[in-house]
Amino acid sequence: MRVAVIGAGVAGLTCAHRLTSRGHACDVYERWPGLGGQAATLDVGSGHLLERYYHHLFTSDRHIAELYEELGMPDELEWRPSSVAFFLEGRSWPFTSPLHLLRFRPLSLRSRLRMGLAVLRLQRGAREVEPFEQRTARDWIVAAMGAEAYAKVWGPLLRGKFGDRADDISMAWLWGKLTMRRRLQGKEASQELLGYPRRSWEPLFAALRSSIEAGGGRVLIDRPVKRLSHRAEGFELLAGAPGSFRGGHDPRGFDAGGTERYDAVVATVPNDVFRALLDDELAGAIGGEYLARLAGIEYHTALCLLLELDRGFTPFYWTNIADPELPFVGVIEHTNLVGPERYGGRRFLYVANYLAAGDELLSLGADELLARYEPGLRRINPAFERAWVRERWLHREPAAQPIVTVGYGERIPPLRTGVPGLVLANTTQIYPEDRGTNYAVRLGGDAAAALLSAG
Ligand SMILES: Cc1cc2nc3c(=O)[nH]c(=O)nc-3n(C[C@H](O)[C@H](O)[C@H](O)COP(=O)(O)OP(=O)(O)OC[C@H]3O[C@@H](n4cnc5c(N)ncnc54)[C@H](O)[C@@H]3O)c2cc1C
Repeated sequence: MRVAVIGAGVAGLTCAHRLTSRGHACDVYERWPGLGGQAATLDVGSGHLLERYYHHLFTSDRHIAELYEELGMPDELEWRPSSVAFFLEGRSWPFTSPLHLLRFRPLSLRSRLRMGLAVLRLQRGAREVEPFEQRTARDWIVAAMGAEAYAKVWGPLLRGKFGDRADDISMAWLWGKLTMRRRLQGKEASQELLGYPRRSWEPLFAALRSSIEAGGGRVLIDRPVKRLSHRAEGFELLAGAPGSFRGGHDPRGFDAGGTERYDAVVATVPNDVFRALLDDELAGAIGGEYLARLAGIEYHTALCLLLELDRGFTPFYWTNIADPELPFVGVIEHTNLVGPERYGGRRFLYVANYLAAGDELLSLGADELLARYEPGLRRINPAFERAWVRERWLHREPAAQPIVTVGYGERIPPLRTGVPGLVLANTTQIYPEDRGTNYAVRLGGDAAAALLSAG
């Protein structure tokens, strides 16, 4: 089979790698002039690569760890102790070990104990997601931990990630977050270990690309798909012209490049992009029920400001912002996980946000945004000055976070679109786990299997 894979993120590259190993040559089309999708890197200078968006792995992320092994790169992953804090009531509260919860004074002692017990009970006992699927996280938290824990800790965290949809988020999502990622045995019971590849995520993409090319396929960057049609003899794919990425995400606005024919297509793009690729006939063949599923899932946009600082900003890797007055939701100091010596002494801090489409912050440039964030950054570290910032980069990802509301599991579009030979595999189908590169690896494999088993 000649297969086109749309999107060279982790799912697309893994899918093409799996299909290649089964003897099917794949052409991978990618809109961006680089590999990796949401995990893509940028050169921050002096040959150092960093992800545009903060990235780490959990020890439970076995699919991606196995892929590193399979590609002959088992030593690439390094595991380091994590450090986490909550910023609330004017200070950062360490939240790395269970003992820190007991010392977390913004909550009454009773609420602290209830919260700790509820999380433990969930992690030890609740193996199935079903009991949590028809309930909001808010409802469960208030019942299991009390209203104070929701008001001061979980509500602000959910609002940070899901904005005004926070109160509607399914408990299934939080169950996934709290139960699936962390090992409670051994060293990790007291301090979580996080993984980061020795040389960034980029070597993984390069190895997948080599595998695809060795099998006779091509990995085409800065070559998006503009339109997809179904003909009697297969699929007709109209590529967009080079440079199309400058025109945004909607493929209908791209200038046309060349046309190619394929026996099968796996699309790993977000729902709205996939819908915009389909010509009328193909959309009709897929049918209204499937298209309604695509349209029914909302996303929030990630807005991520990466700063190079001339000194450390916090003592923590990850600071959750639970103070609603700060205009961002997290501060992730990469060089508190991977030491600055790895980067010639340079230090990097991500200021994270998730916003609904159309939010005013999304229209700002890097300097304007930094100016907006400055007072908030100073609340966390009162000594902070603009002069600490040596360099800054701003990235926006419109389809970064699917909004997982109650009953989400029943609304997910299946991998098989209903049109033989056409598969959709994207982050909306990662459930009940929180989406991540590990699950994108699993999804890429599932997409290849769905295509091959469909005949
Ligand atoms: C802020 C942020 C932080 C994150 N942190 C972590 C983390 O710590 N750990 C972790 O494991 N994961 C993290 N993730 C999630 C992780 O990056 C994603 O789940 C994963 O990379 C998704 O892979 P994918 O291939 O499914 O999708 P994507 O990476 O979105 O890939 C889709 C690809 O399709 C391309 N495309 C779009 N339109 C077209 C077109 N018309 N033609 C061709 N190609 C097109 C896109 O450019 C993209 O490369 C984070 C994500 C974000 C946004």
